[in-house]
Amino acid sequence: APQRTRKPDWIRVKAPTSEGFAATRALMRAKSLTTVCEEAACPNIGECWTKKHATVMILGDTCTRACAFCNVKTGMPRAVDPMEPQNVADAAAQMGLEHIVVTSVDRDDLPDGGAKQFVKVIEAIRRTNPTTTIEILTPDFRNKHEAAVEAIVAARPDVYNHNLETVPRLYPTIRPGARYYASIRLLESVKKLDPSIFTKSGIMLGLGEERLEVHQVMDDMRSADIDFLTMGQYLQPTPRHAKVADFVTPAAFDAYAAIARAKGFLLVASSPLTRSSYHAGDDFAKMKAA
Ligand code: SF4
Ligand code: SF4
Repeated sequence: APQRTRKPDWIRVKAPTSEGFAATRALMRAKSLTTVCEEAACPNIGECWTKKHATVMILGDTCTRACAFCNVKTGMPRAVDPMEPQNVADAAAQMGLEHIVVTSVDRDDLPDGGAKQFVKVIEAIRRTNPTTTIEILTPDFRNKHEAAVEAIVAARPDVYNHNLETVPRLYPTIRPGARYYASIRLLESVKKLDPSIFTKSGIMLGLGEERLEVHQVMDDMRSADIDFLTMGQYLQPTPRHAKVADFVTPAAFDAYAAIARAKGFLLVASSPLTRSSYHAGDDFAKMKAA
């Protein structure tokens, strides 16, 4: 029904036309870097790129999976680019980033799932930008997650993020190929290996989840000691993707945030346009200062 899928007023965003936007795009092209901002058709791109916040997507622009909510293209990815770690570090330096978010496609084709490239990127950023805080948003590394997580944790990112994306009941349709409890355990193992690393996860709302299911996800996250939570409205990137089941109101997002804070998360971001990386640097800096 058209009424249900028309975007409400609170979703409308400004067109990306500023000078900062063009400069960020030119830099990413010059460094042959892919951003999740563009690949995921993120609605915040105008605002974020104007403020020089961008989320770099390493390990190529082609994913070995095909999640029903995701705009990244699926197929057989190319070989890992050995120049990529330094290119990411140089882009961070040129943009003067105080906080960088690095994510990747799923690379189920690689023996280490891409973990070594994450380590190299973290090391290159540290060398080139010693004061920049580093947030990584990793895939689930399927059945090699123990070795992958150990290697990445040893490189000591400031924040380790892995998104649960939705409630467990919707995994078969929305996130096939992933397992809810495997993702929870991945984050739990980060915390066990190095409690000084902040762990973070997020879900999209508007995919048909029930309120109590969302509360249960929060409880599952807190039992795994997950520190930060993000919640945002799912938007359908193209008609081939999963439909929006409903538009959650800003008031409902606020109500979820209040519950999440009561459950003990250190940082909660919950609004229609919240994305995993939206204001991540600002929020992290504020929390550390507090
Ligand atoms: Fe990029 Fe994240 Fe901002 Fe979206 S919210 S534009 S993905 S930095
Ligand atoms: Fe998109 Fe990640 Fe799913 Fe790949 S694994 S399709 S990048 S959400």
